[in-house]
Amino acid sequence: MSTLELYSPTDLNDALRFIEHDGRNAAVIASGTDLLPRMRRRQISPSVLVDISSFTEDLRYIRQAEGTVRLGALTTVTDLLESPLFSGKLSIIREASMLFGAPQVRNVATVGGNICSAASSEDLIPVFMALGASLKLVSAKGERTIPLKDFIVGKRETAMKPSEILAEVSFSPPVGHSWTAYEKLGRRNMLILAIVNEALSVTLEDDLRTIRSARVALNRVSGKIPALAAKTNDFLQGKRVSDQTIARAQKVLASELSLTSDFRGSGEYRTEVAQVYLRRLMERCVRQIGGPS
Ligand SMILES: Cc1cc2nc3c(=O)[nH]c(=O)nc-3n(C[C@H](O)[C@H](O)[C@H](O)COP(=O)(O)OP(=O)(O)OC[C@H]3O[C@@H](n4cnc5c(N)ncnc54)[C@H](O)[C@@H]3O)c2cc1C
Repeated sequence: MSTLELYSPTDLNDALRFIEHDGRNAAVIASGTDLLPRMRRRQISPSVLVDISSFTEDLRYIRQAEGTVRLGALTTVTDLLESPLFSGKLSIIREASMLFGAPQVRNVATVGGNICSAASSEDLIPVFMALGASLKLVSAKGERTIPLKDFIVGKRETAMKPSEILAEVSFSPPVGHSWTAYEKLGRRNMLILAIVNEALSVTLEDDLRTIRSARVALNRVSGKIPALAAKTNDFLQGKRVSDQTIARAQKVLASELSLTSDFRGSGEYRTEVAQVYLRRLMERCVRQIGGPS
């Protein structure tokens, strides 16, 4: 029988030194709401858990300075819900947090754990992708920053090295004629992993009719990987806001998705919902910005 050890580092540097030497057999644990069920299902079998949950001084914060919002990896979903920062153009974070699990899960589930789980049903990954977020990864040798869009490289696979810990998520809040919105479909309203979830951040030109930029992100864009819908985003750039533009964008979106079927829903159904959500998100954002009625 294989054994499992728990390592409780004294501080973040101690954790980093530990995984520098034994990272391949170790798994960092924050709150364990994703990790422990997977271990129980024997999907992963680390030999050591490195518990970072007590490093709240270093890793649990929500800050805004010099045009950048910074979230420590141990920030919980409840922290997001309680922050006054996530209203107006950033209400997308509040929307996604309200639809996340149930209060008991939200109180402990961390932003870092959500992103590092790299699962195809997570709520915060498309949201932070739509916001153009970057991640700060730290190791015993230093730190590096990587765009979130490049972080998830396969099903449950990330670009993080075994010797690294995710320390921070950062992004520039949308400015000018911008808005953000989120939609999630589940089989019920609470405690549900998404069948489809989709996030949009859009900016209009000063005429409030032309799309300066759009970032649609959703899970399972290709296979089971959350990603930006790059072709759709390219298509929308510079287009006039109209029913026709949205209808054409829906077709582009359908062409770039390869949504998979499982017990929650078929690929065809998911593609249909993703298209409906694109229209709904666009209309919601444009209305908030004060564009075409
Ligand atoms: C009942 C229930 C309901 C849920 N509902 C939802 C939901 O509605 N929406 C949703 O998105 N998710 C949901 N989840 C999944 C889970 O709660 C989230 O993914 C959560 O954000 C994971 O955070 P955690 O702190 O528990 O991560 P953990 O389970 O501790 O870790 C998850 C993974 O990330 C790694 N990791 C964690 N932190 C770091 C770090 N800082 N650096 C490097 N690696 C790290 C771990 O090694 C592990 O691989 C639910 C889970 C349960 C049990």
